Amino acid sequence: MEGYKEFRGWVYRIRKLGDDKIFIVLRNAHTIIQGVIRKGADRRLWEIGEKLYIESSILMGGKIRQDSRAPNGYEIDIEKLEPIHIGEPFPISRDQSEEFLLDNRHLWIRSQRLTKIFQARHYLIKYLEEYLHNNGFYRFDPPIITVSGAEGGADMFELEYFNRKAYLTQSSQMYGEAGIFGLERVYTLAPSFRAEKSRTRRHLAEYWHLEPEAAFVDWKENLKIQEGMIEYAVQKFLNNHPELVEYFQVKDMLKNIKAPFPILTYYQAVDLVNSLGGKMEYGQDFGADEEALISSKYDRPVFIVKYPKNIKAFYMKQDPDNPELVLNDDLIAPYGHGEIIGGSERIWDLEELKNRMKEVNLPEENYKWYLDLRRFGSVPHSGFGLGIERFVKFVLNLDHIRDAIPFPRTINRVYP
Ligand code: ATP
Ligand code: MG
Repeated sequence: MEGYKEFRGWVYRIRKLGDDKIFIVLRNAHTIIQGVIRKGADRRLWEIGEKLYIESSILMGGKIRQDSRAPNGYEIDIEKLEPIHIGEPFPISRDQSEEFLLDNRHLWIRSQRLTKIFQARHYLIKYLEEYLHNNGFYRFDPPIITVSGAEGGADMFELEYFNRKAYLTQSSQMYGEAGIFGLERVYTLAPSFRAEKSRTRRHLAEYWHLEPEAAFVDWKENLKIQEGMIEYAVQKFLNNHPELVEYFQVKDMLKNIKAPFPILTYYQAVDLVNSLGGKMEYGQDFGADEEALISSKYDRPVFIVKYPKNIKAFYMKQDPDNPELVLNDDLIAPYGHGEIIGGSERIWDLEELKNRMKEVNLPEENYKWYLDLRRFGSVPHSGFGLGIERFVKFVLNLDHIRDAIPFPRTINRVYP
């Protein structure tokens, strides 16, 4: 970086030192660079400099030189300064409440931290998809408007669809299952909607859901795909983006995210929770506190497998060794980030699926097309769902899931 350079961007900071100097720090998507207007410079430069606000858009040019005091180690002697839009005083300054920042999310997403999160999210999704492409999965796009839900009717957003009721999808899994009969390996990457009343740091009402589904894959191979995908995406991110890894201080955490991931059975996991001071009985599901206890023992994600069928979805295949259990897994991220994946082998036999639906009182009429998939050349198959924002929250070690998505939708927020 030598010689005359021009930059287009936004005023990140501006500081006037009496009549002596004006420092203008410009930011854009690639850099942050400090420029200086000195006493005795062209008066027009000085006049423009005095009018600028934080976040005014500008073009700034001049000779660039090293200066160890400047944010990037370089400084520009400003020779050219053109306002693109001076605008109005920017409403966001330091020390504003979380509520205020959320109300002004449309402006706050330009902050350094959120910009870096969304860069990281972009790369993480790219690497997850890259792994799937390298392993024979096709992207397969599902409908968002549906009439029946994978997890049943509770917690669904209802909408008026012409003259009938429809719902925003909770999961695209069943459509992925339909997709494997042509493509064998597919994944959907689409929003899922959950009208959950829970106010937690890891639930959104609308989130991006990555759901691979594969023919001729049993529950064990399903685990291999999950750990392979997580390892690949994390290691690529770690190796290719040192500046982001440094910003979020996650190097030590991420370097351990390597296969194989430990596997606990449901019963072992309950025992572990109780041995660490938790209180659980067999048959209960893990909550955030229990997951945090389990993950405290490991430096990488851990699988919990073979849950009691009563606490899991009806389409999960029963364990031939113990029909009270299902061939499923939850993947629990380390450092208290909790569940990031839920997966299972699916029931592929028609009678078995019908029986299971009867047991849990699901009406067959709502699932006619899903049952059809078991009538014409059915095959063993497995799949899983990863919440993109849960994954981003874990990889960047964020406190709250809402920062992993540009415009979070939660129980008390649909604006902006
Ligand atoms: P939890 O017990 O944490 O509510 P779940 O068992 O309801 O999760 P699944 O229905 O198995 O989750 O969904 C698959 C994945 O989708 C989860 O592992 C998680 O990564 C993600 N996920 C589920 N619900 C939400 C949500 N409300 N907001 C963000 N991500 C979610
Ligand atoms: Mg849930």
